[in-house]
Amino acid sequence: MGIIVQKFGGTSVATPEGREHLVQKVTKAAENASVVVVVSAMGRCPAPYATDTLLGLVPCEGSADARELDAIAACGEIISAVVVTVALRKAGLNAESLTGAQAGIITDDCHGQARILHIDTKRLKNNIEAGKISVVAGFQGVNSKGDVTTLGRGGSDTTAAALGAALGADLVEIYTDVQGVMSADPSIVPEARWQDRMTYTEVIEMANLGAKVVHLQAVEIAMHSRIPLAIRSTFSDEPGTLITDLAGAGAPFAPPKPVTAVATTAGRAQVVVPAHDLGVFSAMAQAGVSVDMINVFPDRAAFIVAMQDLPVVKRVLDELGHEAKIVEGCAKVSIVGEGMRGIPGIMAKLAEALARAGVDILQTSDSHYSISCLVPENELETAARALHAQFGLGGM
Ligand code: ADP
Ligand code: ASP
Ligand code: MG
Repeated sequence: MGIIVQKFGGTSVATPEGREHLVQKVTKAAENASVVVVVSAMGRCPAPYATDTLLGLVPCEGSADARELDAIAACGEIISAVVVTVALRKAGLNAESLTGAQAGIITDDCHGQARILHIDTKRLKNNIEAGKISVVAGFQGVNSKGDVTTLGRGGSDTTAAALGAALGADLVEIYTDVQGVMSADPSIVPEARWQDRMTYTEVIEMANLGAKVVHLQAVEIAMHSRIPLAIRSTFSDEPGTLITDLAGAGAPFAPPKPVTAVATTAGRAQVVVPAHDLGVFSAMAQAGVSVDMINVFPDRAAFIVAMQDLPVVKRVLDELGHEAKIVEGCAKVSIVGEGMRGIPGIMAKLAEALARAGVDILQTSDSHYSISCLVPENELETAARALHAQFGLGGM
């Protein structure tokens, strides 16, 4: 019998109705496979056990508190694992809740952004052999000191993919509140369409550019382990999106579409420093600030940072004595597609759509599979919708 890992997100476990659907999905999967369940914390803030609610109980800043923040954040998933285990048992299934540590998830010491180093699968395998469903608290592990760590926001997906890889699972299913991976975030672009198949590469690019439907590292782990990853709705029986490599998509010679999705990231600020001084980048790195959309010219360097890092960024720039120009309230809108490489005219179409919609482009960057534009945050929806329409993503 094969192994399936099923992960249920925050909205899926938040209500009795969601948990009823969860029980149905697990019961059905358990008919033909050994099932391991991974859960997120219940609901979103202000729900009492949501991650942000728990973090809000200990308002603090700085790395000195990172260990304590991880310890409290991890409680949300543990509470959820117990609630779900009891619901499964009530439905007649043999289930046991496990914290990340009990499930054998060993991480590095990087609190808040820990990486999984190793999974000791003994307990999980014993449960599988005993016909017992492990319900694992997502988003967490334990470091070599025995301290609780968390895997970064949205990290329960990564717990599921990592357990799938460690157990040699046949499939990892991510159950959430949307029908699958869509051509844009449906809360921003209502015309967004569900995609039945996508490649790991496309979804990695989307996640990297802000589509939070699945955690970036989860897709990377699935890709490296060659495990199919399905993104499905907890609340329907639709097939969702199956993410595999291109060959697995059954069309090895069909050219990939130039543009398959629009991704967005809000809450960014643009920083322009007048003289090209690479010292600014090492100073940002030392302060733990991640920079993005880096453009270096002979007379200036421009980059973007997360708005929440702005106080640190301003302090670093002051210390360097830089007269920087900072534009707050920006957002990044990107088009993504594995087939855009080498196709002429994609940038022209993008620029035309944004100009027609009256959206200012503050900066751009591109990769093999994407083109990103920095725009004023209050124009993000307009920009995303204009690009979605321009590349025909809603009407196929
Ligand atoms: P969960 O708690 O189930 O992990 P998340 O909130 O982390 O759920 O992720 C699901 C959300 O991701 C959706 O509600 C949707 O608003 C957002 N999202 C962003 N981009 C996309 C996309 N391209 N396709 C689908 N959903 C997306
Ligand atoms: N509960 C965690 C978060 O809100 C992890 C997750 O949902 O995947 O980030
Ligand atoms: Mg999520």
